[in-house]
Amino acid sequence: MNKCSCGKCLGGVLSPRTAFRFSKTADSCHDLITDSLDSSWPAKQDQPCHDPDLPFIDYLPVVLRLEVAKPFIIGYANCFATITWAIKQSQLPKPRIIKQCSSIVAGLNRDASKHYFNNGGMAEFALDAVIATCLQEHEYYGDATFLADSDNKSAIEKLPKCNNDDDFDLIQYSMFQDADCWPCGPYYSNTGYDDDDGYNAGGVGDDGGDGWVHYDTSSWVPPAEKKKGEEEGEGKELSLNGLSLEGR
Ligand SMILES: [Zn+2]
Repeated sequence: MNKCSCGKCLGGVLSPRTAFRFSKTADSCHDLITDSLDSSWPAKQDQPCHDPDLPFIDYLPVVLRLEVAKPFIIGYANCFATITWAIKQSQLPKPRIIKQCSSIVAGLNRDASKHYFNNGGMAEFALDAVIATCLQEHEYYGDATFLADSDNKSAIEKLPKCNNDDDFDLIQYSMFQDADCWPCGPYYSNTGYDDDDGYNAGGVGDDGGDGWVHYDTSSWVPPAEKKKGEEEGEGKELSLNGLSLEGR
């Protein structure tokens, strides 16, 4: 079961090389979001914004971004910074660690983190975005931009190799198997409010043209909000649906 060959994997699964990639990617995600906050937000900075055009916002379920307050996005960005922080502390950045630590990491706005988690935000969404970005920038799975950065390349080459290197399926499984949700972003929305439900989720269950099937999970309720015991036997496919089955 345990195929770590370096003895240094975080949680037995996140190898030094992949941890470096993960940490750097989470850090860039954080910077991209915070750097674009001011330009993306409406003139009145404190007003909630409808589905703002921000990096990685698609990894938040549609229902969470219909009306977004700025502290919510700062709290979301804090999750990315906390992922980097956790890896520096030699911790596998599991959702519960990120949730707990995003309010204590120095330099992060603690109120924004609380706002995020009190309003439906989950660490899983940020982890989902980081995993997806690692894959997009990967030399085998994506466009190879990560190693095109010579600093990244030389840093990775100095780290020990492990059989767990780039096993993102294993990482996903380890992070989400006992988490409150199994995220499946990006969550796309159409701009129209043109169907009988008042909201057109659009393209639900369809192949988005990129080979992946996207499900709208905007009506999904985290199992944590259900009574313990009801969770047994309810796979994520069941609880995901609500809207999505109607679209087929
Ligand atoms: Zn290892």
